Amino acid sequence: MPTFDFDLFVIGGGSGGVRAARMAAQRGARVALAECAELGGTCVNVGCIPKKLYSYAAGYAESFGEAAGYGWDVGETRFDWARLKLNRAREITRLNGVYRSLLEAAGVQLIQGWAQLTDAHTVQVGKKRHTAQYVLIATGGMPFVPDIAGREHGVVSDAMFDLDPFPKRLLVVGGGYIACEFASIFNGLGAEVTQVQRSAHLLNEFDEDLRQFLANEMTRTGIDIRFNAEITMVTRLESGGLCALLSRGQRVEADTILFATGRVPNTAGMGLEAAGVELDERGGVVVDSHYRSSVPSVYAVGDVSSRQQLTPVALAEAMRVVDTLFGQGKRQLDYEYTPTAVFTHPNIGTCGYTEAEARVKFGKVTIFSSEFRALHHTLSESKERVFMKLVVDKASDRVVGLHMVGPDAGEIVQGFAVAMRCGATKAVFDSTIGIHPTVAEEFVTMREPMP
Ligand code: NDP
Repeated sequence: MPTFDFDLFVIGGGSGGVRAARMAAQRGARVALAECAELGGTCVNVGCIPKKLYSYAAGYAESFGEAAGYGWDVGETRFDWARLKLNRAREITRLNGVYRSLLEAAGVQLIQGWAQLTDAHTVQVGKKRHTAQYVLIATGGMPFVPDIAGREHGVVSDAMFDLDPFPKRLLVVGGGYIACEFASIFNGLGAEVTQVQRSAHLLNEFDEDLRQFLANEMTRTGIDIRFNAEITMVTRLESGGLCALLSRGQRVEADTILFATGRVPNTAGMGLEAAGVELDERGGVVVDSHYRSSVPSVYAVGDVSSRQQLTPVALAEAMRVVDTLFGQGKRQLDYEYTPTAVFTHPNIGTCGYTEAEARVKFGKVTIFSSEFRALHHTLSESKERVFMKLVVDKASDRVVGLHMVGPDAGEIVQGFAVAMRCGATKAVFDSTIGIHPTVAEEFVTMREPMP
């Protein structure tokens, strides 16, 4: 039996890597984790957490405007971008420390530096080689920017949190999660936002009614969305600003141009292919249903291998790997009915199949849909509306799709996702007593199907 320095060597200290390292160590494994930047990965440093904090900040602008109808005179308001950045940075540093403490308390050896796989059981960091029975690749992803003339004048999402100065005019390229969230956030914080999307809709994989409704809501809040438009060139103007040329000859001037045009797996320069690890056409690690790569001792979880680029999915995959290697044995993760939220203003929450997907998968479906003004906005005078939709498989009566645009959609859909994974039928939804007066009760009171 060969003896290794470690039982598990984790490359990458983001959500998936930290969870796997910590859990494996708690089960008695000798674990090392290599990270070349701050602990916490995209989610903690330049993703979910700072993004949600900024989304809260943007929400105040709406709240101030809505307060008058409730009798509050808010007075003059002023937004201090520098203070928000400082407070966010302080909180992220605190979280970096929490991650470090958790790993140290579990007995994980932390190694700072860029890690490369040199063979099936060896990882090199700096000049030092470490051997391990198993290696876990959890290096996440990074922004992809299309090859456009002048793209170096633009930024990617990582840079959005520390922009200096605050962009008065922001151009967002893309129509996915990141594009829509940053368009909403910076619009809320006071920027003039233009969003350019190459196709005819936002959020490709979402329900058609939902994304149309969202586009209308985002437009209503002041975002100038240009569909079927591609950016062909970016130039810097003498004034210091930027100018983007669009495919149909339009020009958009901006202080900052954000390319939110997708993300690619982070595998370059890690020696993976030389060590025999098969990569797919996106550069992602090809894994089997137990996250094992083409090299039997090498596993991969999270954005570096998964198509569902979501922190909770990376965490769940990490737990499965730890179970497989050091625990109760192989358990397969079921990706069906993975709920997700997009923190636009208003938020999106969704679980299960879109109407179009459900028609293909189940054949006959019944659709329930509702659009209304929430009680909150009867006095606030906000024009914001709520959209809710249920997709029901006609044969089984099971609710197979649940979609919402509205306040706290993510919070609301999380609970319904549990019911949907339990196989809740429309009859069960109908027999559930609503909580009154809430927005969420509409999901259990929709009685009339769409014609
Ligand atoms: P997405 O894949 O969601 O969106 C990419 C967008 O860029 C699409 O609108 C796409 O257009 C457009 N695009 C792609 N290539 C080009 C190109 N060459 N020129 C012009 N436009 C282009 O990627 P994101 O970067 O927004 O997010 C990556 C992933 O991160 C998400 O899929 C999600 O899983 C995760 N994420 C999750 C969040 C959450 O849970 N709230 C928040 C942020 C990210 P088209 O639609 O036409 O293909």
